[in-house]
Amino acid sequence: MSATAEIITIGDEILYGQTLDTNSHWMSSKLDEIGIKVRYKTTVGDVKEDILNSFKAAEERVDIVLITGGLGPTKDDLTKPLLNEYFQSHLVLNEAALEDITAIFAKSGRPVTPINRQQAEIPAVCERVPNKLGTAPGMWFPKGDKVFISMPGVPFEMRRMMTDTILPRLQKQFVDQVIYHQMIRTIGVGESALAEIISDWEDNLPTHMKLAYLPTLGMVKLRLTAIGTNYEALKDNCKQQVTLVEPLIKQYIYGYDDRELEYHMGQILFKAGKTIAFAESCTGGYLSHLMTTIPGSSAYYAGSVVSYSYDVKENVLGVDHETLETKGAVSEEVVRQMAESVRKKLNTDIGISISGIAGPDGGTEEKPVGTVWIAYSDKEKTVAKKFNFSKDRVLNIQYSAYMALNMFRLNFAGAV
Ligand code: ATP
Repeated sequence: MSATAEIITIGDEILYGQTLDTNSHWMSSKLDEIGIKVRYKTTVGDVKEDILNSFKAAEERVDIVLITGGLGPTKDDLTKPLLNEYFQSHLVLNEAALEDITAIFAKSGRPVTPINRQQAEIPAVCERVPNKLGTAPGMWFPKGDKVFISMPGVPFEMRRMMTDTILPRLQKQFVDQVIYHQMIRTIGVGESALAEIISDWEDNLPTHMKLAYLPTLGMVKLRLTAIGTNYEALKDNCKQQVTLVEPLIKQYIYGYDDRELEYHMGQILFKAGKTIAFAESCTGGYLSHLMTTIPGSSAYYAGSVVSYSYDVKENVLGVDHETLETKGAVSEEVVRQMAESVRKKLNTDIGISISGIAGPDGGTEEKPVGTVWIAYSDKEKTVAKKFNFSKDRVLNIQYSAYMALNMFRLNFAGAV
């Protein structure tokens, strides 16, 4: 049986909607990866009784209690004194923690203040978990065969602490089986259609392997998990299953790892030595933003024209005035001209254009909110396609950008 965990996030700001609890989201996925089952997530405010009650409840129902937040040096940071009380301990100066804090202050040329020195005092019954990025040390409290772990609320400090120390240690102490995950990333096929295509394959998976469908924005990630005792054997099992399923869904697959679609499309361009430019209307530059989040994208991404208005479509891109007037900006004819024009004007191998009605206003019966035209153009051909996305403006922008990348994948010779 796998070990169970509860995540307790502490802070009024989370309860009042001022801070989105990204910590527990990230922690859950990392614990899941190593085979620890998160059974509960609790958020409590900066209230003494509530925090103590949450410790008690968690101790009764899980093996591992992970706590974030409330470790700062100010009075409203209650976690450390309350853990000290809960474990009936007393605070002692931890020399290693003080060294960490001193090193952080030395970097910025400041002396350690008494209040920060106090952060190096931790309950005698716990072990310090190093914090390389901040002044609040993490704390590891063994309790019988259970454990409480306290970490700072600052997301990047918590993540580093988890990755460097806590996850490896939890895995060693609580996980007796080995887990191997294999991702298969798809785009352009819905979750249920995909499930139908691979249903026989899924039914025939060996009992030590499981499949999860993780859908987002027109993409479905298939995560194959193998559990056993031999890592290399599990890896081989997964590879073997990939070779079986791949021919069934090859036209939808764009990657086998943790990296996003924009990375994989960039790699195709990079390897082919080709360049790309975008003409974006309703996405307002979002596609360009995605592309430039990838380091090294200057090797293949030339630039974009954000042609939001008719004026820019006509006067910068040279879209025909008559076509704009008669067909409208959200039309096949206009996106074709936009894609061809941006390719020629920016002197690239490929041009991609997007024009649509993101909403919430601007829809008509003929072109409701969510109608988006996308075109792909290279030196041999120009292809355009109409999509009907959603009623939500932000989703429409995101869908458009990802489907534009998929248009590239489907039309660029050799990409699929
Ligand atoms: P520090 O000692 O560095 O101040 P802390 O443990 O006291 O850390 P908090 O004061 O609770 O942490 O929060 C510090 C920052 O981290 C705040 O900006 C807060 O919004 C953010 N934060 C806290 N908890 C979470 C969470 N669960 N998810 C995302 N961000 C969080």
